Amino acid sequence: MPTENKTVLKLAKVQDAHLTGKNVLVRVDYNVPLKDGVITDDTRIRETLKTVKLLLEGNCKVVLMAHLGRPKGKPEPKYSLKPVAAHLGKLAGAKVHFATDCVGPEADKVVASAKNGEIVLLENLRYHPEEEKNDEAFAKLLAKHGEFFVQEAFGALHRAHASTAAIAKFLPGAIGFLVQKELEYLDKTMVSPARPFLAIIGGAKVSDKISVLYSLIEKVDTLIIGGGMAYTFLAAQNTNIGNSLLEAEKVEDAKNIILKAHRNNVEMLLPADHRVVTEIKPDARVEVTQAMAVPDGWIGVDVGPRTELLFADKIKAAKTIFWNGPVGIFETPSFASGSITVATAMAQATKGGATTILGGGDTLSVLKTAKVKPENISHCSTGGGASLEFIEGKQLPGLVALSQK
Ligand code: AMP
Repeated sequence: MPTENKTVLKLAKVQDAHLTGKNVLVRVDYNVPLKDGVITDDTRIRETLKTVKLLLEGNCKVVLMAHLGRPKGKPEPKYSLKPVAAHLGKLAGAKVHFATDCVGPEADKVVASAKNGEIVLLENLRYHPEEEKNDEAFAKLLAKHGEFFVQEAFGALHRAHASTAAIAKFLPGAIGFLVQKELEYLDKTMVSPARPFLAIIGGAKVSDKISVLYSLIEKVDTLIIGGGMAYTFLAAQNTNIGNSLLEAEKVEDAKNIILKAHRNNVEMLLPADHRVVTEIKPDARVEVTQAMAVPDGWIGVDVGPRTELLFADKIKAAKTIFWNGPVGIFETPSFASGSITVATAMAQATKGGATTILGGGDTLSVLKTAKVKPENISHCSTGGGASLEFIEGKQLPGLVALSQK
């Protein structure tokens, strides 16, 4: 379980590493959303600034490496990190050199030409297939860019890739401020949460979140399931779900989780009513069901108004709340009401003294839709997958690689 993550791994911290004047290679998570070359949410960049600025103040040469999207091992202009370089320069108030490759002569040249107190951003690591293969020779080429490695890519810690795992074989390393903050929050929440402890898990697929559900059911007082995945749980209780999303092969797991909740005295809430359509399209006519069942021919796209009230009440009563995954297809305005209610209630709960934690890119986008500022939530995790795997009690390869024996 999560405590093991902390007790087994001994991790050095960037602020203790005496890095003045050094070349420091930093793995960051700059996998930011882009629209026509413009960054639409720069949270992930901002969150690394504390570490970047510490290094710049220490007169280090800061070499940043990151991935963007899924370019499948070859250069693809739409996944270039170049727009990030310009934006980073403004945020960090420092010169940012951009290298059009992350390894090889071009990268070596740009790194050599940068001065101490300046930043180099290397082009997308995933332009090379070796990155995702955790290839040691590739990691060695990356390692040439620095004398020390800082792991600041919380969102990539659950991946054993060359820049997150193999790299640690070639350089001494430490974790940055963002990774420290993420781990502290998640660890505190999972080990000694103030109670009642409520988890809200939504999103599209049960299969993505099955392990975390098994883990949460051992920890929480109340578990709310919403979004597309709720329908597999409703089906597991023989409730009609019409044409809503169903993962038939996960019905047995859903039954097991319901049973475990019962045995552990965990209150488990599924949507009590739904917003339904006959076709998923932005201008679809939306109806509200009377009860838990979805009539034949209809698709559940959001929780209904009664469920919103119920969820908001549970959020209000909780002292610790963990939320991952929207409770409806929030990207479409007329299916966003449930997710907006959850986001707003989370902000109110934070104001009232609850510890609120939110994870996953989609969940962060819901905040935007709901016009809730991230600072009105106790902690917005920058890594959905990594935070879920941490809660599941899995060892994160990006940390294991850095752990001191
Ligand atoms: P995830 O990445 O698993 O957190 O899933 C997020 C996605 O779940 C979002 O794109 C939502 O549109 C989708 N989602 C939420 N509710 C539903 C639903 N009732 N039916 C289908 N997809 C949904």
